Amino acid sequence: MKKHNFSAGPSILPQEVLKKASEAVLNFNNLDLSLIEISHRSADFVAVMKKAQELVLDLLDLKDKGYSVLFLSGGASTEFIMVPYNLMKTDGKAAYLDTGAWSSKAIKEAKLFGEVDVVASSKDKNYNFIPSLYTIPSDANYFHCTSNNTIYGTQIKDFPETDVPMVCDMSSDIFSRKLDFSKFDVIYAGAQKNMGPAGTTLVVVKDRILGETGRKIPSMLDYQIQISKDSMFNTPPVFPVYVSMLTLQWLKDMGGIEAIEKINNKKAQMLYDEIDRNPLFIGTAAKEDRSNMNVTFLLADDSKKEAFDKMWNEAGISGLKGHRSVGGYRASIYNAMPVESVQVLVDVMKKLAE
Ligand SMILES: *Cc1c(COP(=O)(O)O)cnc(C)c1O
Repeated sequence: MKKHNFSAGPSILPQEVLKKASEAVLNFNNLDLSLIEISHRSADFVAVMKKAQELVLDLLDLKDKGYSVLFLSGGASTEFIMVPYNLMKTDGKAAYLDTGAWSSKAIKEAKLFGEVDVVASSKDKNYNFIPSLYTIPSDANYFHCTSNNTIYGTQIKDFPETDVPMVCDMSSDIFSRKLDFSKFDVIYAGAQKNMGPAGTTLVVVKDRILGETGRKIPSMLDYQIQISKDSMFNTPPVFPVYVSMLTLQWLKDMGGIEAIEKINNKKAQMLYDEIDRNPLFIGTAAKEDRSNMNVTFLLADDSKKEAFDKMWNEAGISGLKGHRSVGGYRASIYNAMPVESVQVLVDVMKKLAE
């Protein structure tokens, strides 16, 4: 039996996607060749890249709205560099919202390029909430935020209204909920949380905000060059792009973001209800900012740890250990996580209390 995989990333993918991906590794499109041993310039792979890009625009409802889709390598962490490189003017500044370890890493990189205005931070509360009272300076070249804080289990529910271009790291909640994605000028996400294997990063960028900085940008880090080469300036990460395409197709076939959002809300509700009901558990994130993707909680009584760990292990649950900076437990319930697996965890929590 396959385990109930609550890993934060790399993380669960749909079983049928894994099956198709494994078949393509052996024999892709009946070519009698592997997907990973053909040219990225072959018609068969170019069609994969095109399809993946189309699915992204389709699912995010961004078709014909002036956006380009890139599948790059280097992870979301490389976007911490590419964003200021491509958007911060040589004498400009950027505004950042600090809601966790990933935001603060993005801030650190941006400071290499110019002035960074951290408009608000929840660091002094170990990032257990999303600051809501802040102003974005109108002369900032862009505003950067992290939609879902994978480590702390918080999620932005309402994005600010601003005339400044908005950049969002959506690594751990992209394609999980309906948003007006046209409010964003750059969206990026490492594949390995909700889309595919590690090794590719999705970047969705509004074309008209590029080319304004006056900076000389190295080719690999230049969004405009990557766009003009259709993500194939160099050899793209062919396998992660292919698996991402399969996952996006899976999502579209099941009704797109609207359909998955309902299921995601249900899964999160099941867990938060149990955490709030069961005196043995304490949620770590402020209620109004709780994430629907990463549910973080502690045991009220640490002497129950051994019993709880044994019980969930025996129930076939994997990847539940919390991040070291929060402790306790973290249940990552990305798109591909079945409701039934969440029920298994809830049942174990109930049983511990009995
Ligand atoms: C995992 C994660 C990252 C880092 O992604 P890499 O692809 O490993 O660089 C960045 N931001 C968020 C929100 C994440 O969850």
